[in-house]
Amino acid sequence: MPEKKNRVDMEKIVSLCKRRGFIFPSSEIYGGLGSCWDYGPLGVELKRNIKDAWWRAVVQERDDMVGIDTSIMMHPQTWVASGHVEGFSDPLVECKACHLRWRATDLDGNSCPDCSGELTEPKLFNLMFKTFMGPVEDDAAVVYLRPETAQGIFVNFDNVLASSRKKLPFGIAQIGKSFRNEITTGNFIFRTREFEQMEIEYFVKPGADEECFDYWVRERFNWYSNLGIRQENLRLRQHGKEELAHYAKDCYDVEYLFPMGWAELEGIANRGDFDLVQHGKYSGKNLSYFDDETGERYTPYVIEPSAGVDRSALAFLVDAYDEEMAEGETRVVLHLHGELAPIKVAILPLSRNEKLVPLAREVYTELRRHFMTQYDDAQSIGRRYRRQDEIGTPFCVTIDFQSLEDNQVTVRERDSMAQIRLPIKELVKTLQAKLSGEPFDTQPLWATRASGSSEQ
Ligand code: ATP
Repeated sequence: MPEKKNRVDMEKIVSLCKRRGFIFPSSEIYGGLGSCWDYGPLGVELKRNIKDAWWRAVVQERDDMVGIDTSIMMHPQTWVASGHVEGFSDPLVECKACHLRWRATDLDGNSCPDCSGELTEPKLFNLMFKTFMGPVEDDAAVVYLRPETAQGIFVNFDNVLASSRKKLPFGIAQIGKSFRNEITTGNFIFRTREFEQMEIEYFVKPGADEECFDYWVRERFNWYSNLGIRQENLRLRQHGKEELAHYAKDCYDVEYLFPMGWAELEGIANRGDFDLVQHGKYSGKNLSYFDDETGERYTPYVIEPSAGVDRSALAFLVDAYDEEMAEGETRVVLHLHGELAPIKVAILPLSRNEKLVPLAREVYTELRRHFMTQYDDAQSIGRRYRRQDEIGTPFCVTIDFQSLEDNQVTVRERDSMAQIRLPIKELVKTLQAKLSGEPFDTQPLWATRASGSSEQ
């Protein structure tokens, strides 16, 4: 049976992203650079909104979490302690189908032991990008671009503990760029060599780790569905024993049904005390924790939920994409969650008539103080609605001649295409409530649905 795939083609997403300014091939005028992508005016907003939603959920709204922002280049010993220097320095082959990497010397045949897929040529391969710090390019000056943000958290465990006066259990969150010289890249922004991660290291007392692990698996799964990803496109997959790193106790992937099939969106691992013990050993510093309630000293266990910003962006875009029949034509619409939509509201004066412009600009100026707002006065109202649907704008505000008399405007909602009249002074408050999740049709004010062909 062929593997299940998302109904949306990746080509459609790539083309919409290019056309509307979400994502462009990097340095395109020079022919592009393999697996590198640039986020355009709408893409940068989407990405910021994803990161803000994550930060709010895992830092701002919790009292057991703090944030950190560590440097991309770290002391080279970091990567010796973490296992990255040794772990990736053998000749590697990678399965072109499932992307598992194998040491070439460990294999008998020339197909993937896991799925029998075709293998790449062996390469002496370290996944980390190497560069030199300072003017001399010798071994003593080698530094790496971090392949994950996690190690910046571990090496600061003691600093954060001492300065924030947190007690176990507590966690540290970080968002930042990571770099991996991946053997195989592809599927648009799914696997690239430069990407952004959102990582948590949550420290617990050994023995409390399993319950905490279950909690974070549920919590992270729910984060995606709360932001609108359809249940049927989301699943959890537990790693088999043979897949687990030698130190890991357990690991789940949150998987999404991408256009190419099910694939990892986020990994949640119970890493035991491996990282703190390793850094303690290599740095000579004591990275244990003194529990002043019980008088015990121990090295905490760590639960690591590790997500990708770019992969999440791709999943949110794919899941939101729809083509619907509306008034006899196809409308392309991104049903993005209000929190994620790059533009929250568009101001559309009925025409460029000079009487309408001052009021339309006035409303625009006011709304911009609260939301990412676009002003569009080109072409028919119907065409302008479609343009906003295609980029996922939840609300369009139309200013017409009646507005000049009654100080009311028409607000049209993206998903239902319902329209209502609303006093201008109510706009900000009402849109704020709707964007933060209040259902569109619960308020009596919003109950008058537009019917027929009012969108011409
Ligand atoms: P994969 O096997 O898909 O390469 P991984 O298991 O190596 O991923 P982790 O090391 O667990 O990934 O990284 C955590 C998260 O970081 C992933 O779930 C993913 O969202 C993101 N990520 C990792 N590598 C990449 C990459 N090359 N491009 C984009 N995102 C990535």
